[in-house]
Amino acid sequence: MAFLLQGDDVLHQVNPSPLPDPYWVAFSSSAAKLINIPLGRAQLPSDPKWLEVLAGNRLDLDDKTFDRPIATAYSGHQFGVWAGHLGDGRAILLGEINGQELQLKGAGKTRYSRMGDGRAVLRSSIREFLCSEAMHGLGIPSSRALAVVGSNQAVRRETLETAAVCSRLAPSFIRIGHFEHYAALQKVERLQELADYLIDHFYPECRAAKEPYLELFKAISARSADLVAQWQAVGFCHGVLNTDNISALGLTIDYGPFGFLDQFQIDHVCNHSDSGGRYAYHRQPQIMHWNMACLASAMCPLLEINHPSETAQALLRSALEEFPKLYAGRWQGLFRAKLGLQTVEFEDISLIERLLQVMHDARVDYTFFFRKLANYDSILLKPPKEARDLFNHLAVIDEWFRDYGLRLQSENSVDAERKMLMNACNPKFILRNHLAQDAIEKAQIQDYSEVSKLLAILENPFDEQENNEAYANPPPSEYRPVEVSCSS
Ligand code: AMP
Ligand code: MG
Repeated sequence: MAFLLQGDDVLHQVNPSPLPDPYWVAFSSSAAKLINIPLGRAQLPSDPKWLEVLAGNRLDLDDKTFDRPIATAYSGHQFGVWAGHLGDGRAILLGEINGQELQLKGAGKTRYSRMGDGRAVLRSSIREFLCSEAMHGLGIPSSRALAVVGSNQAVRRETLETAAVCSRLAPSFIRIGHFEHYAALQKVERLQELADYLIDHFYPECRAAKEPYLELFKAISARSADLVAQWQAVGFCHGVLNTDNISALGLTIDYGPFGFLDQFQIDHVCNHSDSGGRYAYHRQPQIMHWNMACLASAMCPLLEINHPSETAQALLRSALEEFPKLYAGRWQGLFRAKLGLQTVEFEDISLIERLLQVMHDARVDYTFFFRKLANYDSILLKPPKEARDLFNHLAVIDEWFRDYGLRLQSENSVDAERKMLMNACNPKFILRNHLAQDAIEKAQIQDYSEVSKLLAILENPFDEQENNEAYANPPPSEYRPVEVSCSS
């Protein structure tokens, strides 16, 4: 964020608000390694000052002082509509350690808090913590979560809840909304500083290009296409794909009302506030493309430095057109891998689409099915019973299973090898809503053991973990999903 430190028109220097009597709710020792925090008993920081720092109660450690915490200004489109000036309303960036920005979410009011209280509740902080680390476990780019620090301080949402701070790490929290902010203010110099900062630190290959800013756009767009394809492959719905929640580094950021699919429903909407279904599962790729269009329009003044307006627009437009192709290529590759296919056949796409249609029709558990599919016997053309039993109309899926088996035979697939490859890309464990909810409800009565247990399971989602079999199961039939919405 060095570029931002040059002027106070785009940032607000603000200290976190103290959080009374903080205590550890969750801690990721794996994230702690990123910033070299020495750990002691119970895999918590050996220096007790860390608890106070991550609560927002102090800014100094023995060997480090965060002397300039900031909240940044950004703008953005929310639910497809220009929302104007937003900014870090409850996230405060303490500083950088070892190439990672350390940000406290829920650390109190900033200049950008508008009507909000600057706080986050325990429930949403645990969800963000677990999902950040689960994403990392799945190998999907994400901000990391270091800790959740709780407090008995009351926070009003629909009901009275308690406050918590989730500390997050990322090489940068720059968003599409930062570009849109400077573009809306017509601050081309700032826009240029922002783009140069990103190129120098995260996209150095763009510097040598004839059009570095166009290359930067293409690179951000490519990473975003890649990211959304990976979400689709694991059945992740972000929930609020507003441009202010889209990372310029292609990371999953700003976990709110997200959800992993249990039963496969192509138009599943996880965010209760999203009544129009704008951010439904099947719309995520299209929405990411739309968000890239917002980025292209925000970056246009950068290309206009050297080109007439029409040329700048044409260059960006044609770069933007690459998005669906990049996305489709990545999606096809990921789904071929999910099916254990190692060669490429034109008909594979229809094989994948037919499967998704019948899974949708039967509302089959997405993660469970793909994991069990690895046991397909391609010599006998015999589907695994646990996978087949998920369907109600057997004729259609049996036809699919047969075509799948013939396709495997056509590439001389070796069952044992294929099973290993499939298990390395079809997770056994995802952060199912009912598991997160159980961990949250226990935490609300001061039992944090389930949060730690889930964290440990989700750190290795592709492993068999025989002792944790129950965590791989679809939710119990009596489970009624809790509603998750934007306010948390
Ligand atoms: P989100 O949907 O969490 O990405 O938030 C959208 C915008 O609202 C961002 O600018 C946030 O900083 C702000 N915001 C959300 N919750 C609060 C809160 N409790 N207090 C202040 N600002 C908030
Ligand atoms: Mg946000």
